[in-house]
Amino acid sequence: MGSNGCAVITGASRGIGAAIASQLAKRMPVIINYSSNEQAALRVLESITKSGGHGVIFKCDVSDRKSVDEMMSFACEKFGGIHTLVNNAGLSEIKLFTDITQEDWRRMEQVNLDGVFNCCQSALPYMIHEKFGRIINISSVWGVVGASCEVHYSALKAAVIGLTKALAKETAPSGITVNAVAPGCIMTDMLKSECDDDTLGSLIEDTPVGRLGTPQDVARAVAFFSSDSSDFITGQILGVDGGFGS
Ligand code: NAP
Repeated sequence: MGSNGCAVITGASRGIGAAIASQLAKRMPVIINYSSNEQAALRVLESITKSGGHGVIFKCDVSDRKSVDEMMSFACEKFGGIHTLVNNAGLSEIKLFTDITQEDWRRMEQVNLDGVFNCCQSALPYMIHEKFGRIINISSVWGVVGASCEVHYSALKAAVIGLTKALAKETAPSGITVNAVAPGCIMTDMLKSECDDDTLGSLIEDTPVGRLGTPQDVARAVAFFSSDSSDFITGQILGVDGGFGS
């Protein structure tokens, strides 16, 4: 397949995923996945279409394997294959470790880790058939250095790093690269829901380049891993964090 097929971006209705969809749509058609916010997903599609790109929106909870299988099958039928899979959908939650319930832990695990497992396992047969594929997982700087009051989030983002490194070794002989991006503090709904203005100010102070990241900062790194320029790069974790995690 080489450069044919589409990009499937999970959680692409808002924030980082929306920026990734817009960036990748410059090179290939995109599946804009979302879980509930159809209007937001449609706005992303409208903006891509206005810029001359192609795509479709697809509602699917990444923790639901049957829906994920339907999404990957749809992507292949509609666009002839899956060139790039970006596992971006994620949840976050601020809680003291002692307050995290079994239900909190399970839901975080279902979306942030099972979702990556589901999408990789569902897309891989199509990629292996073509002997080509690019998988990019969105981890987090907290999966590298750990965050107080986000132990469940940090643990699962660290697991995504382990999954990335191991799967990269397994799929490399099939022409499929697997890399991850570990964003720092990126201005999206997720960050806004967690931080008041004082906390945002502290995060800027703790970021050596002196600003918060933008979704586009992350999208450009993902575009690199999706491009021919990264042919010989697999199993890598790229910090896009303005020096925060170094
Ligand atoms: P966001 O603004 O909260 O957007 C989350 C996106 O994920 C939305 O499109 C949402 O869809 C979708 N989503 C949530 N649960 C889903 C599910 N079960 N199935 C499918 N889609 C689902 O988040 P963000 O800040 O852009 O974060 C994107 C990724 O980057 C996440 O994995 C996050 O952990 C990671 N990250 C973010 C930061 C940061 O500072 N923002 C830093 C490091 C890593 P709906 O619109 O339908 O709800």
